[in-house]
Amino acid sequence: MLMRYATHHMEEKIMKIERPFRGYCLLFAAVLCFTNASTCCAEQAKNPFDKTVRVAAHLEPAIPHSAQEKAARDKLATLKAKTGRAPNILIIVVDDMGWGDIGVNGGGVAVGAPTPHIDSLARGGLNLTSTYAQSTCTPTRAALMTGRFPARTGLTRPLMAGEQMKVNPWADEEPAAKLLSAAGYKTAISGKWHVGEPEGTRPHEVGYDEYLGILAVNSEITQAIDERLYPDLVLRPERLAALRKLVLPVVTAGEKGKPTRTVMEFKTIDQVGNSDQMFADYSVDFIKRSATEKKPFYLVHAFSKVHNDNYPATGYKGKSPAGFPYKDAIVEVDDIVGRLMKTLKETNQAENTLVFFTSDNGANEDTWPDGGYNPWRGGKGTTWEGGVRVPGIAYWPGMIAPRPASDGLFDLMDLFNTSLAIAGETNRVSDKRYIDGVDQSGFLLADEGESARQCVFMYSEKELTAVRWMEYKVHTKVYQSAGPMKNLDESVLSKAVWPWVYNLYMDPKEQRSTGHRYFEWGLTAVVSMLNDHAGTYAKYPMKSLGLELPK
Ligand code: CA
Repeated sequence: MLMRYATHHMEEKIMKIERPFRGYCLLFAAVLCFTNASTCCAEQAKNPFDKTVRVAAHLEPAIPHSAQEKAARDKLATLKAKTGRAPNILIIVVDDMGWGDIGVNGGGVAVGAPTPHIDSLARGGLNLTSTYAQSTCTPTRAALMTGRFPARTGLTRPLMAGEQMKVNPWADEEPAAKLLSAAGYKTAISGKWHVGEPEGTRPHEVGYDEYLGILAVNSEITQAIDERLYPDLVLRPERLAALRKLVLPVVTAGEKGKPTRTVMEFKTIDQVGNSDQMFADYSVDFIKRSATEKKPFYLVHAFSKVHNDNYPATGYKGKSPAGFPYKDAIVEVDDIVGRLMKTLKETNQAENTLVFFTSDNGANEDTWPDGGYNPWRGGKGTTWEGGVRVPGIAYWPGMIAPRPASDGLFDLMDLFNTSLAIAGETNRVSDKRYIDGVDQSGFLLADEGESARQCVFMYSEKELTAVRWMEYKVHTKVYQSAGPMKNLDESVLSKAVWPWVYNLYMDPKEQRSTGHRYFEWGLTAVVSMLNDHAGTYAKYPMKSLGLELPK
């Protein structure tokens, strides 16, 4: 209340200031208000730019589109009447693939690795050019599965080799797989997990009916094998023995209620290169098995590639025009996507399956040339566009009409809400947890559907750094690196003196902030949205798993 009075009093004074300086001072008042969010703005009227409606305290406000929501419901009802069952959901997540790696986003053949199968999904469905992930692996996977920001689940940064957490993040989380399994779906994940290695945090222990894959990440395996890249570890038996006590380089599998099984131990680079073929075989088999069962399925196919270190699978060495291992891996990923789609078609399930193709974060520039391509600024690990803007394609023959690409905002957390909506099971979402995702089924299914999402908020661990609103990107904290393409290994995060603002239509590479010069009109609205977002943590606080680095 005191803060509100102080700000109001300041505004009165500002209005008496000479016109050229007045806006600058009002902006200062707005930023001051933002930094005192809890005391200042809670009682203010809704900002006139805000199109959202909050239907429940635990649900993120969304932009209502009643006609397209009805169109989606009608389409789903018609399909269910025809098939007699709920639709299948297949979410394909590539690891570290850049926004620009796929042909329809300006990459593909133009950057030495054609992606015809992925491109055909986009041409036969809906390419979402403004799809956003978190900036690294673990946070995105947790957010995609739970619909909740990493700050809320506690999975705020990549888990490291064999890392123990003080608290099991999954003890009080309900991922979509768990809710859908309870609703009669058969749920599975194939490939990379990376949201918990210890017992009690593995896929078949937190909601998935079955899984086969690696519990962590590709580089955790390759560092224990490739003596050319890691001689200081691989050629030092005592270090290797110590690492093996933390984690073993293995493929494991599990079924709900049963212990984890070791399927294979990685001993050679060739085995690592072929791991995605093993995961593809598993998914193909799962899709085939599902066709003979009465249950619908929810399958997350999570590639181990194209995260470093990439080694070619059998038959893929030099197969891409570029000839580099990363590009060969892109060609292999594209071929596997083709295999999955062929299997859906051959088992007569394509028309009853929503397919969503994406990547868990932007291109990793730090690992170049074993890293991807994007036309944006920055890369994995930052909330510049290069770190968080990822491929996003929705494909569902007969349900999603082939459409021109859309720049409507889509956050991968929306897959939680959208999956439950498509399954007709939104009533299973508990009000005990805040859900940051929004239901985008109307956006995807209606012929001219628009996004229900107003903003995309971006974080570094538990610190909000930036927000995308319309074509604008506003940074309150900024990443600055010590050298080119050094986003993870040599960068710092600093508080912006004034918000750094970019018009992404005019300046997609975020090179020239024009915040107070051209965006004075929008800043009050953005500050209001940031305040509303910050306010959600009062009732639904952040969770700590003990992952914070010692200070
Ligand atoms: Ca990743």
